[in-house]
Amino acid sequence: MFLEPHFKGQRSGWIEVICGSMFSGKTEELIRRLKRAKIANQRVEIFKPRLDTRYDEAKVVSHDANHVLSTPVEHSRKLLELCEGVNVIGIDEAQFFDADLPEVCQMLALKGIRVIAAGLDMDFRGKPFGPMPNLLAVSEYITKVHAICQHCGNLATHSYRLSQEENTVMLGEKDVYEPRCRTCYHMGNILDLKASEKETDGEAKIREM
Ligand SMILES: [Zn+2]
Repeated sequence: MFLEPHFKGQRSGWIEVICGSMFSGKTEELIRRLKRAKIANQRVEIFKPRLDTRYDEAKVVSHDANHVLSTPVEHSRKLLELCEGVNVIGIDEAQFFDADLPEVCQMLALKGIRVIAAGLDMDFRGKPFGPMPNLLAVSEYITKVHAICQHCGNLATHSYRLSQEENTVMLGEKDVYEPRCRTCYHMGNILDLKASEKETDGEAKIREM
């Protein structure tokens, strides 16, 4: 379990990143850390990108309905205006922020702020997601949390999309995504490919008839 390196008395702030697949408990971990900071009398603010409207507009809500009030922002630069007098900043769904997020987080840390960002490290294609790889590179502390593979029960690192929709930004719940381990994720993709090839073959056969 992550233990805070220091709550007070440090000259600069720092960046913590909590990453992992869908349903890995990233937001729960973010909320846990923010609650502890509040207990330590720190002033805490939470932000998320405006596009995440899956649940309540003004709340960071994890899948277990544990919630904390948050502010939706249009652009990561906005965080610089909103951090006055704040000790700890929580950022949820960090993968959906713009490319300036890593630089903004570094500026916030230099101001003495503890920045805790939670986000998906990979998209459903298994590729690094948005600003996450650069954010991971400049952070002091990284926690990778894991879901459980719904097929074999091993640790899941990948978010498998059950629908064939190609758009990366597809907010979803359990009917759209499934956490899978590396093997089951790749097996799924191979089976999907075979299924779509079969469909194409089938269509071609129908045309031939
Ligand atoms: Zn598996």
